[in-house]
Amino acid sequence: MGEVMPIGVIVRGEDPVASLRRVKTLGIPTCQMYAPPDEWRSERNIEKIKNVISETGVRITCLFCHFEGESYADIPAIKKTVGLLNADTRTERIEKTLTFSDFAKKLNIPALAAHIGFIPEDKDDPNYDELIKAMQKICDYCNDNGQKFALETGQESPETLSTFIEDVNRLNIGINFDPANMLLYDKGDPIKALNVLGKYVIGVHCKDGKRPERRDELGEELPLGEGDVGIEQFINKLKEIGYTGPLTIEREISGEQQTKDILKAKELLEIG
Ligand code: MG
Repeated sequence: MGEVMPIGVIVRGEDPVASLRRVKTLGIPTCQMYAPPDEWRSERNIEKIKNVISETGVRITCLFCHFEGESYADIPAIKKTVGLLNADTRTERIEKTLTFSDFAKKLNIPALAAHIGFIPEDKDDPNYDELIKAMQKICDYCNDNGQKFALETGQESPETLSTFIEDVNRLNIGINFDPANMLLYDKGDPIKALNVLGKYVIGVHCKDGKRPERRDELGEELPLGEGDVGIEQFINKLKEIGYTGPLTIEREISGEQQTKDILKAKELLEIG
């Protein structure tokens, strides 16, 4: 697919140098990267990363924010620990996000993304306004650094998300659309969701999965093509909405099987 919708993969950030080399080995031209630990923000380490970017030619399209203490064990754990929803950790996490933005700027990474946590469906929930203010602060900072900010999708309905984006009211806010999350969190139809959210898509995750069988549980994530997303329809829908960004493969396991699944996903996307 070349310049239009180049293939990508989301990689860990513990060792950005090793991750970039791995992406190159996989024969994939772009990646999203989880924000590396603080020590990678030294000038010396930033130089190291820059060198590997030019050596491998791999483009980092998005820095994915994450925070200490996050747990995806089940829905209540996610509500309490993920992103910016919990008031106890919100202020420090906003500050941390701003440091991620500065780090991304030094590497010319054009976008940041995060799971900011479940956006309350009820606008009267005090957390709703607090999340709006948090996102305005983060978006303004990213905008000054020339970056977009993408909300990872799937933890709320497309309507809640689109109302939230309108209320944040910043031009550089958008979404990283993950079709599998809509199934894992049992929220709406992932292809139809793009009718509502299409104009906000900054990035996508090519991930697959099935809906949960019981309440408060998460569905099962599966290798691309083996779940219920309908990858062909998904790619066709992305073309229909005029999306031209990277197709970033996400497979939330590790080790050899992950590598195999990523390569299989790459093959699947190259045919499409
Ligand atoms: Mg995702």
